[in-house]
Amino acid sequence: MDIKINKTESSKLVETNLENIPFGRFFTDHMLEADYENGEWKNIEIKPYQPLVISPSIAALHYGQAIFEGIKAYKTTDGEAFIFRPQDNFKRFNISAERMQMPQVPEELFMDGMRKLIAIDKNWIPQYKNHSLYIRPFMFSTDELIGVRPSDGYKFMVILSPTGPYYTEHLRIYVEEKYVRAVSGGIGFAKAAGNYGAAMYATSKAKKMGFDQVLWTDPFEHKYVQECGAMNIFFMIDKKVITPDLSHGTILDGVTRQSAITLLNEMGLEVEERPLSMDEIIDAYKQGKHIEVFGTGTAVTISIIKELMYKDFSMQFDVDNWKTAPLLKSWLNDIREGKREDKYNWMWKI
Ligand SMILES: *Cc1c(COP(=O)(O)O)cnc(C)c1O
Repeated sequence: MDIKINKTESSKLVETNLENIPFGRFFTDHMLEADYENGEWKNIEIKPYQPLVISPSIAALHYGQAIFEGIKAYKTTDGEAFIFRPQDNFKRFNISAERMQMPQVPEELFMDGMRKLIAIDKNWIPQYKNHSLYIRPFMFSTDELIGVRPSDGYKFMVILSPTGPYYTEHLRIYVEEKYVRAVSGGIGFAKAAGNYGAAMYATSKAKKMGFDQVLWTDPFEHKYVQECGAMNIFFMIDKKVITPDLSHGTILDGVTRQSAITLLNEMGLEVEERPLSMDEIIDAYKQGKHIEVFGTGTAVTISIIKELMYKDFSMQFDVDNWKTAPLLKSWLNDIREGKREDKYNWMWKI
C-alpha cells in the first residue's frame, strides 16, 4: 500500500506538557487521511495535523454515516512503543462499517497506516503512569448531496491524542429507566456517532443530578442492565462475576471487556455472560453480599463505581474493601506498561 508521507517542519511537541494532559484535547503533529472514491481507497497520506475543508452539503453532517474506534498505544518502561489489541478494533471497525452501509477498510490501510503514523509521532506517547496515546480512527461519508442514501464517497482518518488518566474519582451512576440507548435490531453494537448523540440528553440530565454517567437498561422493561457511557459493566457478587451478554446486539463488544473476562478467569473467577436484572443486584445488596461494580473501556481502562441510583434507592458500595476490581486494573495496566508478562499477545509492537 502506497502511503505518501509529508512531515511537518515545526513540531508542537516542544510547547506541549504531556504530564496529566487532559483526555482528547491535544493532538499530535500528524494525521492519516484516505479517500474512498469509485470503489477504491486512494490519496492515502500522512500529513501535518490540520483542519479539513468540506462542503456544507456532505452527507455525514446530515444523515450520520460516521463511525470511529478508540485504541491506545503505550510506551513501556524501557521506551518501546506498543498498541493494545489493535486487531480487535480493526475487526470491530468493519463490523460498524457494514451496519452503517459504509465500505470496508482494508487491514493494510487501517493497521499499517496506524503503525506508520504512530511511528512518526512516537515521541508523543507519554511515558508517565496511567498515560497513553489515544488513537482515533474514524470514517464518514463525503458525498456532496442532500439525499437520504448511502454515500458513494468516504474519508478514513486516524488522529492521535496524548492522554493522562481519564476518570480519577470513583463513579456515581444513575440507572436510566426512561430513555434508551439501544434496542435489539438497532445499532447499539456499532461504534457509530449517532449512538453518542442519542445518549447525551439522558446523560446531561443525570449529570445535573450530580451523577457521572447513566447505566442503560433494556428498552422494554428497564429491568436488565446494558452498559454505561463508553464502558461495559461488570458486577461481582460474592465470588461470581456477571456481565451482560452480547446476544441482543445492544451492547458494544468491548476489547477491554474481553480482556477483563480473560484476566478474571486467570484469577480463578467464573465470569457469566448473561442477562442481569436490577432486581438481582438489589437483592444481593439487601442481603449484604460482597458486591464490586466496575466499568471497562479503552478510555477509562477499569473504572470503579461507588454508587448506583435506581429509582429512589441508592446503593453505596464499600469500595475500600474491594480486592478484585483494583487487582484487575493493576494487572491490565501492568501488561500495558510491560511490567507483567503478556501471555495472550495483546501488545502489538510498533
Ligand atoms: C468503546 C465503547 C466501549 C468500550 O469498548 P473498548 O473496546 O473496551 O474500548 C463500551 N461501550 C461503548 C458504548 C463504547 O463506545
